[in-house]
Amino acid sequence: MRAVYLFKRDLRVEDNRGFSYACQRHQEVLPLFIFDPQILEELKVQGERLSYLVKAVEQLSEKIKLYCLYGKTEDCLREIFRVFRPSHLYTTSSYSWSGRERNQLVRRVCHDFGVEYVEVFENFLVRPESVPPRKVYTPFYQEWSKRVDVQVAERPSPKVPELPLPTLEQVKPLLKLRPFEAFDPRACKERLESFPFESYEELRNYPALDGASKLSPCIRFGLLSLREIYRQAQGRSEQFVKELGWREFWYHVALHFPEVKDTEFQEKRRGIPWENREEHIQAFLEGTTGYPIVDAGVRQLLQEKWLHNRVRMILASFLAKVLLVDWRIGEAFFKEHLLDYDEVVNVGNWQWSASVGADPKPFRLFNPILQARRYDPDCGYMKKYLPELAHLPCEELHDPLSYSLPYHPPVVNYYQRISLAKKAYGVPS
Ligand SMILES: Cc1cc2nc3c(=O)[nH]c(=O)nc-3n(C[C@H](O)[C@H](O)[C@H](O)COP(=O)(O)OP(=O)(O)OC[C@H]3O[C@@H](n4cnc5c(N)ncnc54)[C@H](O)[C@@H]3O)c2cc1C
Repeated sequence: MRAVYLFKRDLRVEDNRGFSYACQRHQEVLPLFIFDPQILEELKVQGERLSYLVKAVEQLSEKIKLYCLYGKTEDCLREIFRVFRPSHLYTTSSYSWSGRERNQLVRRVCHDFGVEYVEVFENFLVRPESVPPRKVYTPFYQEWSKRVDVQVAERPSPKVPELPLPTLEQVKPLLKLRPFEAFDPRACKERLESFPFESYEELRNYPALDGASKLSPCIRFGLLSLREIYRQAQGRSEQFVKELGWREFWYHVALHFPEVKDTEFQEKRRGIPWENREEHIQAFLEGTTGYPIVDAGVRQLLQEKWLHNRVRMILASFLAKVLLVDWRIGEAFFKEHLLDYDEVVNVGNWQWSASVGADPKPFRLFNPILQARRYDPDCGYMKKYLPELAHLPCEELHDPLSYSLPYHPPVVNYYQRISLAKKAYGVPS
């Protein structure tokens, strides 16, 4: 009996339950990765982000013989089934909206060919369905933390067949790659092992410092097992473990309230009269709002395809509550650029930041002037991404409403806008 193992967001051999399980049960296993142009197009995974994915697949190919196909998932699977004639196909289960759709498609093709389809649970510390439905993070976390399972998967030693099928080298020329150095999948393991978890809680909110782990792309593509990350963090930073819990909370919410994909979690926040003014949207997307903390964030995102969490929150809050632009527009912008883009986590956080999501606090305010003062006190972050303002005294960058900067004038006055936002959200002034 031989099997195909379809890699998706679990691009590693070590501590990979799905791959390990397939290798234990079958003498011969064909490891497979499919570059599906439809998925790449939908996720706008081109250029830099595709280069990162290719490096990740390359790293995997150095550890096992990996077959790589380029084409529609169903066509590639048909080709594999025709050449290899497996009895089973294994892959990880998926809890994202698009991941589920793809798994259903794979299941259908398997069914048509009489191949047994097996999903293996992976990429989470706790099964999202095992926690009773919770709408608020803290009670979720209490339940979640009791169920964390860190049992390591056996290291597989598969017998991989030699077949006339392509590998990454043959597929690479078909992909539109662009040089990308800001993140390297090969650095994940070292980053995890050297990350000072003890100082995470103190430093994590300051974007000018190297206080956050920057492991999100490694997690997004499954380059590290969550169990390994959890084991490193446990006992050294409860705050870090809580962040891993946040990731799983958004999946839990998506499972129980699937409508959040494109609809506000809070019913009372459906139908907010968004202004969606074109000039505001453009200023935001181009990083020319005149608020240095917001513009620096957009520049970091465009240059590095990653953004510090504090700045993500400032940006999202600014777009929705200060500019009164529909959060879905911002969500799509992050989707287009984030290396760690994860549809469920992105939607959850955008809704939370826009005060329309799973958050018991009725209306959070992120004043960009106070946020900049508090979290970028020396302006190291703003000056890095806005070098044209680097010569100015820091207090001027903090407060573009009190100082006239040689730069884009503020697109709106925060203090005037916030009363409008409260009205639009139905919040008493
Ligand atoms: C508007 C907005 C959109 C976001 N979109 C995404 C996204 O598409 N993909 C994504 O992975 N994260 C997203 N986040 C969450 C968070 O910003 C990133 O996970 C984090 O900044 C990644 O950097 P890090 O690895 O250094 O995080 P660390 O602070 O080192 O945290 C460690 C890990 O915990 C998880 N984590 C941390 N914060 C959150 C959070 N708020 N929600 C869920 N998981 C979290 C991540 O897996 C992260 O890698 C978003 C946040 C906001 C406010």
